[in-house]
Amino acid sequence: MGTGMVYLVGAGPGDPGLITVKGLEAIKKAEVIIYDRLANRRLLQHASEDVELIYVGKSPDRHTLTQTEINQAIVDKAKENKIVTRLKGGDPFVFGRGGEEAEVLLENDIKFEIVPGITSAISVPAYAGIPVTHRDFTSSFAVITGNEDPNKEDSSIDWSKIATAHGTLVFLMGMSNLPKIVEKLTANGRSSDTPVALVRWGTRPEQETLTGTLEDIVQKSKENKFKNPAIIIVGKVVQLREKLKWFEDKPLFGQRVVVTRSRNQASDLAKRIEDLGGEPFEFPTIKIEEPDYEQLDKALDQIQEYKWIVFTSVNGVKYFFKRMAFKGIDIRSLYQAKICAVGPKTMELLTERGIIADYIPGEYKAEIIIEGLKNKINSGDKILLPRADIARKILPEALSELGAVVDDVVAYKNALNDTSAHHLKELLENGDITVLTFTSSSTVKNFISMLNVSGNELKELLNGVKVASIGPITSSTAKELGVNVDIEAKEYTIDGLVEAVRSITND
Ligand code: SAH
Repeated sequence: MGTGMVYLVGAGPGDPGLITVKGLEAIKKAEVIIYDRLANRRLLQHASEDVELIYVGKSPDRHTLTQTEINQAIVDKAKENKIVTRLKGGDPFVFGRGGEEAEVLLENDIKFEIVPGITSAISVPAYAGIPVTHRDFTSSFAVITGNEDPNKEDSSIDWSKIATAHGTLVFLMGMSNLPKIVEKLTANGRSSDTPVALVRWGTRPEQETLTGTLEDIVQKSKENKFKNPAIIIVGKVVQLREKLKWFEDKPLFGQRVVVTRSRNQASDLAKRIEDLGGEPFEFPTIKIEEPDYEQLDKALDQIQEYKWIVFTSVNGVKYFFKRMAFKGIDIRSLYQAKICAVGPKTMELLTERGIIADYIPGEYKAEIIIEGLKNKINSGDKILLPRADIARKILPEALSELGAVVDDVVAYKNALNDTSAHHLKELLENGDITVLTFTSSSTVKNFISMLNVSGNELKELLNGVKVASIGPITSSTAKELGVNVDIEAKEYTIDGLVEAVRSITND
């Protein structure tokens, strides 16, 4: 037996939070990930950077892989002695053909583990506000395949028993057979006024729910052109949805929001959007990188000469202290410098490191910062600004004008990250993005340069997309570059930006 290992992992129904801890570990340690259409791509962000990704779902540019071909791909990779994670929508053993894949692995003498997942059969109803059981309605439910032709002679489904045996019936893969399923149920004794719900792309921002009864659901589904992937829920519990549809009632439900920040910083905004029911699409136009430390090292070697150290960003703080520790400089050597923290997050991070800032400007614009520092600085005072390589020059220039000697040093680098540009363009073209957020001028610039389109194409891509900016400087950069800003945050922070997104999507 080789050292190859296969994890058959349930990815859950779509909401990337609905994967198990063990499933996530399998994604992280995988050398190869083989995934299909129903496994949310966002889960792949957790994979290691050099992972090999193999998509085996439907795709417009090639034929759909057969199960035999998929099996072969798994076996081949495992035989290369790799750790393979086979990621499947929902649970691998609920109509997921996970059993067959496991058997093939066994035949080929390949080690495997099964990591169960949250099946769509239970979680999709839950996100539509439908509990599959409820003491007042039913104490049983059945999960049934809907892709078997109910009129087939040797149908493995005994409709005479299924129709009335359980309170709740959940059909997967049943949309194309909906009329036949409805007919079989009513012909076999299920009352035609039984409530029915169809839920498409459940647990995702695109979740759509249609309700009716066995009597009218076929007609309604036709009128609404209701398509796959969807589940069919039959039973009285469907009525509870009116009260319990918590997910669709969230403030950002259905919104797909582009978050253009660095990889390290994006998660804060992304998390907030997710908590409000929206789907963040993290577009890491910037990634933070280690700089050439020459300037910062020089500043650190003479750290006791500075009267002020002005931190203008979270990353400035992080890299400054990281370098100090690396060089073996004790934090107490900062005792004589006054500290200015721009922005609440920067202040928080300093506080965590035991430093209470001496000055925190009320607003986060260079002009305001200078206003406040004016009276606190004497001519000839040395000031250190540990900042990004692309930071604007307005702050150091204005401080120099006050007579200060300013060392504006590069503490970290903002580098472009273009891996996801293609995917983002696709989403914009398909009209899948509803809101675009910008948190700084550089995020606007990079966003545009990475999309790499003409002015007209840009207008077209952003047609119907609402744009939210964190503050006036970012907004004016956007406008200069041909991006119309729909709303600007009142408070120039992430919280302010989230508030702006909320208000614009509720219009
Ligand atoms: N193993 C999966 C089911 C695979 S069969 C699971 O446990 O969930 C594929 C069918 O699952 C689809 O045709 C659809 O009926 C259902 N399905 C999976 N994810 C879904 C989702 N997010 N919303 C609605 N239906 C879904």
